[in-house]
Amino acid sequence: MRALVLDDGVALRRDYPAPQPAPGEVLVRVLTAGVCETDLQLIRGYMGFRGVLGHEFVGVAEMGPFAGRRVVGEINCACRHCDLCRRGLATHCANRTVLGILQHDGAFADMIAVPQENLHAVPDDMPTDVAVFTEPVAAAFQIPAQIDVRRTDRILVLGDGRLGNLCAQVLAALAADVVVVGKHPEKLRLLESLGIRTTLLSDPPPARSADIVVDCTGSDTGLPTALTLVRPRGTIVLKTTVAGEQTLAWAPFVIDEITLVGSRCGPFDQALKALAEGRVEVAPLISARFSLSEGVRALEHARAKPLLKVLLDVA
Ligand SMILES: [Zn+2]
Ligand SMILES: [Zn+2]
Repeated sequence: MRALVLDDGVALRRDYPAPQPAPGEVLVRVLTAGVCETDLQLIRGYMGFRGVLGHEFVGVAEMGPFAGRRVVGEINCACRHCDLCRRGLATHCANRTVLGILQHDGAFADMIAVPQENLHAVPDDMPTDVAVFTEPVAAAFQIPAQIDVRRTDRILVLGDGRLGNLCAQVLAALAADVVVVGKHPEKLRLLESLGIRTTLLSDPPPARSADIVVDCTGSDTGLPTALTLVRPRGTIVLKTTVAGEQTLAWAPFVIDEITLVGSRCGPFDQALKALAEGRVEVAPLISARFSLSEGVRALEHARAKPLLKVLLDVA
């Protein structure tokens, strides 16, 4: 089958062996996949991943209870018997693999093997181009799953890219005062058109004023910036993963009693429901699409240009 494989570099292979589903896994024929900041980080060495990239996808289940239906898949493949799994922390399973990120081939390929229990059926009337956003929208819904968001909270979202946009949309439904801080006028205009207030990073909000700051910059500058903007006893939600190490003076976390919350994968059911009800708009985020055969070019495109979502059409 065709597959976009990360080894020393990224290459399209046409002779890649089709995945052999492990017990509990089903084969899914991929229709469309989304390029994520994490894919670009993996190419730079994050996690030391080798294999087929891609973890945002819609496909058709080839077997199992959803056979013949369109599905999306949660990305963490848990063992279900370790201590963490038994405590309900399956996304943190000590033995987990992660689709396209950790020891499990991903979705930039004709076929992917996914644990049946990770799959969610896509509503029949939901376009594939909408459903392909389920994984990043779920990641946005993980923020209110982890912290209390009050109507009166002043929330700053740092980063006007894909994830910043989706987090801002989810949070704007929960709090009245949500502002996205970004660098790209055209991306900020898109947010404004969705009814979300924005400001340029060069014209930042008052220091130490935000109850909650969400770092979606994808950059090691995000956390230090968040620290200047959060109020004492405020909360910083860190969505950014950066390859390599970051240094930071940690004393302000103690002095100002800041809560730092790392935040990763979220609830697919809530994401699908919000997408079905049109509470999160994703169509305007699609800025380019390529066929899987043009996958190397698609990744270069996503890296080089300040784009929103690049889609890969597989089938
Ligand atoms: Zn992702
Ligand atoms: Zn486990």
